[in-house]
Amino acid sequence: MTFKELNIIEPILKALHEKGYVNPTLIQEQAIPFVLNNKDILGLAQTGTGKTAAFAIPIIQRLYQDNEKKKKKEIKALILTPTRELSIQIDDCIKDYTKYIEIRHSVIYGGVNQNSQVNALKSGVDILTATPGRLLDLMNQGFVNLNSIRYFVLDEADRMLDMGFIHDIKRLLPKLPKEKQTLFFSATMPRTIATLSQTILKNPVKVEVAPTSSVVDTVQQYLYFVEKPDKKDLLINLLNNKKQQSALIFSRTKHGADKIARLLCKAGIGSEAIHGNKSQSARQRALTNFRTNKTRALIATDIAARGIDIDKLELVINYDLPDIAETYVHRIGRTGRAGHTGIALTFCTQEEKILLNDIQKLTGKNLRIAK
Ligand code: AMP
Repeated sequence: MTFKELNIIEPILKALHEKGYVNPTLIQEQAIPFVLNNKDILGLAQTGTGKTAAFAIPIIQRLYQDNEKKKKKEIKALILTPTRELSIQIDDCIKDYTKYIEIRHSVIYGGVNQNSQVNALKSGVDILTATPGRLLDLMNQGFVNLNSIRYFVLDEADRMLDMGFIHDIKRLLPKLPKEKQTLFFSATMPRTIATLSQTILKNPVKVEVAPTSSVVDTVQQYLYFVEKPDKKDLLINLLNNKKQQSALIFSRTKHGADKIARLLCKAGIGSEAIHGNKSQSARQRALTNFRTNKTRALIATDIAARGIDIDKLELVINYDLPDIAETYVHRIGRTGRAGHTGIALTFCTQEEKILLNDIQKLTGKNLRIAK
């Protein structure tokens, strides 16, 4: 299947081609025809499956073809996401996909001064990507009007729930017009999310790819049994042996992430930590430094790493094991994306063995012990 066969128009095809998207991913193949056909979607897919393009491309195409309404100043599509990083990434994708067509897009999120966001809104936005808190805030100040929304995307609904946004979303829903197309994405479907989806979707088409328990087979996973005091040396040795590779390293705690970053810097490996105690601009800077290879290692906590999207990331290291087995799958899903191969290395102490068992049970595979 090709994007052309999905009836994607030439100027978007050209932009996709330049971004290196040769063929659609499974979720894109499944969702795009229905979105173009005005259907509501219930999408069960995690980050890394190509879900952003699955909703963004057809929305862009429909807005483009809907010439007459394009002229108006109102916001026509709203994409809600749980984190600032994710919202920025989605807007970046939209920027890439709309390279050859005229669609105005913008992103609003909290933790930074609102002025530039307000200015962008004032000059007119077709597609707005937002986190719930800042959106409600700017709505209350009269800078955002959602009366003309025709496309509404709720992304990572389960994370919204985890992060306590469900009330914000419930407050937002009545502000949206009744007549609209809704695309609802979640990696998992706990009961609260299933109920929420039923209240907002009309005869949705269900699309589903790779449940969270499955690890893509492009990721090679290795396990290191190590005692806690030896983790540091093991990490430094591994990074010194893989000189050319950048690594995303997961730490259970913010404090731990800072410590690892300091340790690596001392060992001559350029590193930065990213976690909830860092300001938005510091996080953004660390991410950019990592993306542009100014630093070799990025140490993240799970919350801060949500939605981090780094093309061609080759190496993920679990310095600590996560408490929840599914988190392991999310973590290592950052590598081995879109056909690239990746390596995931996991450190496990005696005390962490119980967590390891949970992971192996979930993925149905025993991790290979590294030699
Ligand atoms: P997402 O699940 O939206 O976070 O996308 C995961 C990664 O796959 C991102 O780096 C995208 O740029 C990339 N991607 C999405 N769709 C395609 C495609 N059709 N071909 C190649 N890469 C893609």
